[in-house]
Amino acid sequence: MSTIFSKIASGEIPSYKVAGDECCYAFLDINPIAKGHTLVIPRKEVDYLFDLDEKTLSNLWLFAQKTAKAIQAAVPCVRVGVAVLGLEVPHAHIHLIPLNSEADVDFKKPKLELTPSEFDAIAKAIGEKWGKV
Ligand code: AMP
Repeated sequence: MSTIFSKIASGEIPSYKVAGDECCYAFLDINPIAKGHTLVIPRKEVDYLFDLDEKTLSNLWLFAQKTAKAIQAAVPCVRVGVAVLGLEVPHAHIHLIPLNSEADVDFKKPKLELTPSEFDAIAKAIGEKWGKV
């Protein structure tokens, strides 16, 4: 059985793609807590991040690093924060969240409501920086 994130990584379910390679995929969180809130996932289907094999886990973190640099270049922020929850979707993923203050990483606050064209523009802006910074 495929997880929703596997279907996103394979293109079966649409997403606002930021970047992808043979191991990993990055896309915008559909319920963002900040503009540029991005998820990075391994294509391999493993529920819990810390159950990933060493090679996939290290590839994922290196992929997250490139993605975070691209986010920082595209979205004004002080830093890119990292969170690992996995309480909703049983497919390992890392949240990358542009931060300007501690409050920006509050998962309980109301989610941002962005239009499809706003999502598209953010994904495109981050994607254009990916691998160049
Ligand atoms: P968690 O598993 O607790 O880390 O939360 C899963 C995250 O995935 C939430 O922030 C959701 O908004 C996000 N999410 C769930 N479905 C989708 C989807 N189809 N596209 C983008 N983000 C999603």
